[in-house]
Amino acid sequence: MNGITLDEVSQQIKAVIRDIPDFPKEGIVFKDIMPLLANYDIFNKTIKFIADHYKGRGITKVVGIEARGFILAAPIALELQAGMAPVRKKGKLPYKTISKTYDLEYGHDTLEIHEDAIKQGEKVLIVDDVLATGGTIKAVCELVEQLNGNVESIAMLIELDFLKGREKIANYDLFSLIKY
Ligand code: AMP
Repeated sequence: MNGITLDEVSQQIKAVIRDIPDFPKEGIVFKDIMPLLANYDIFNKTIKFIADHYKGRGITKVVGIEARGFILAAPIALELQAGMAPVRKKGKLPYKTISKTYDLEYGHDTLEIHEDAIKQGEKVLIVDDVLATGGTIKAVCELVEQLNGNVESIAMLIELDFLKGREKIANYDLFSLIKY
């Protein structure tokens, strides 16, 4: 994007991501992207950089994961001239859904997508803000595939390297803008 390198954009993004220790529970350092969203220049560069990475790959649908994934997926979809499909927590989507239950550190969670959100054979890009253990993204890949979509790639704003989420989705193409 306009000659700016991944390193340069990563540094600018890192400078506006805020660490919140012990949120939502003790021991977790929450990566708060709200200061990034509040900054037009950095937010714009973030969206354009991710979208540019995928231009020409034939992506027709961008899947965003509740809730911060929506904020990134929608403008990326517009840049790619693709549609957008939300994945939400159980009970939030109004039409007929398919669902996937997956394990969390303690307990489990269920994600849903509308059964008509993805057409057979569509090239799909999945977007979220943070890759932690990878459980969420893996469940979303399975939802897309259940609808016979092809996961072309996964785009993450932040990858928490030390949690090794990448290993859980080793069969998929993954692009992350910044790593910790
Ligand atoms: P996981 O399934 O462990 O990869 O967790 C990913 C989901 O949890 C994403 O939707 C993230 O938004 C959220 N998440 C996990 N860890 C963090 C963190 N340290 N800071 C912000 N969000 C997080």
